[in-house]
Amino acid sequence: MYSQDAISGRRRGRPEPTAEMLSGLACLICGTDYRGAPDTEAVVVSHRDDKQQLACHGTCARMASGSVTGLDEAPLPMDERLRRHRTDRA
Ligand SMILES: [Zn+2]
Repeated sequence: MYSQDAISGRRRGRPEPTAEMLSGLACLICGTDYRGAPDTEAVVVSHRDDKQQLACHGTCARMASGSVTGLDEAPLPMDERLRRHRTDRA
């Protein structure tokens, strides 16, 4: 059976998280890639497989965690997130 729900659900609801989102390199909600948006403040909103999931401070964080400031936790430095991201891919 064809699953129309999978397709329309993807358009309507949250998109599938990308590898970048799962590595904390992009916003879990809007998909902003923090590597290309250094001025965007990212906050930790959840964890997955021991990795921090990040979202933009404000609306995105509230959608992801219920708080505009996310969890009370400092995100890892971008360098460290990038390193882990690359390690995952290797
Ligand atoms: Zn965002």
